[in-house]
Amino acid sequence: MYKLNACALCGKTGDIKLSHIIPKLVGRRLKKTSIGKIRNIENVNNPVQDIEKHYLLCDTCEKFFNKYETWFANNIFNPYLNKEKDDFDYDEHLHYFLTSLSWRSLYLDIMDFVQYGGIGIEALQCLIASEEILRSYLLNKRNDIGQIENHIFFYDRIQKATGEFGKELKQLHPHTSIFRSINSYTNCYENVGTFFTITNMMGLIVVTFYKKSIDEKWINTKVEIGKGNIKARNQYIASIVGNDLKEIMEYIEEQKSKLSENQKEIIKKRIKSVGNNIKNYDIFQNMIDDINLKNRG
Ligand SMILES: [Zn+2]
Repeated sequence: MYKLNACALCGKTGDIKLSHIIPKLVGRRLKKTSIGKIRNIENVNNPVQDIEKHYLLCDTCEKFFNKYETWFANNIFNPYLNKEKDDFDYDEHLHYFLTSLSWRSLYLDIMDFVQYGGIGIEALQCLIASEEILRSYLLNKRNDIGQIENHIFFYDRIQKATGEFGKELKQLHPHTSIFRSINSYTNCYENVGTFFTITNMMGLIVVTFYKKSIDEKWINTKVEIGKGNIKARNQYIASIVGNDLKEIMEYIEEQKSKLSENQKEIIKKRIKSVGNNIKNYDIFQNMIDDINLKNRG
């Protein structure tokens, strides 16, 4: 956990709050629709009550961000997960929220890259320059984010998975892993020149590109500054980011295999105690989708 002495956004020193990287509302949603406790994917045998937090922002900035998170929850996140809507008109709140989301993740990832390495100097310089652009925009010191792009990809239920990748995908329970998890990180494919932050919020996937190779195809996913519309249909992507979705799935499968016998027993008991009501939990449908996908192949 990082603990900063000054606010990462406005730079004021003093009372720095524990901030969520991915908004609280997403964690709350996962908790409300989970049968038992949420499991921290870093340590599956130790159920946690909350999602990742760092000391990052002062109270003023935290409250300021909160306004945009609430807008996102009410207008996009909840209606989408409740399957009430797949067509969303938006205003300036959305672009600001997506920028704040990726910026928080990027800020912490830069500290990691500086400390532990893992990317080349050019990529690191691009990330640092991008962080400055995003921060200026978030502080209302500029009204655009230059070449940087925000995209939302509504990860649809997979109907078809073909080829070698399809075969692998079926072993990975894509529905349970993507729809039941929250993750956010920055990745640089330096060989092709694509740098981005990806955040998965239970199937609503946000990607912010700092650098994008010409081979990237993203149709009906871009969010503009100001007013616009985005639909959870007719989205098409041909992207290296597909690797990341696969890696998220693989990682979750690997972590699940580390569950202790004791923890498995506790989960079994909890599912038993829920009994027939299990149908009311989202995870039930996700499991069915995974089984169907397996049988279809
Ligand atoms: Zn601040």
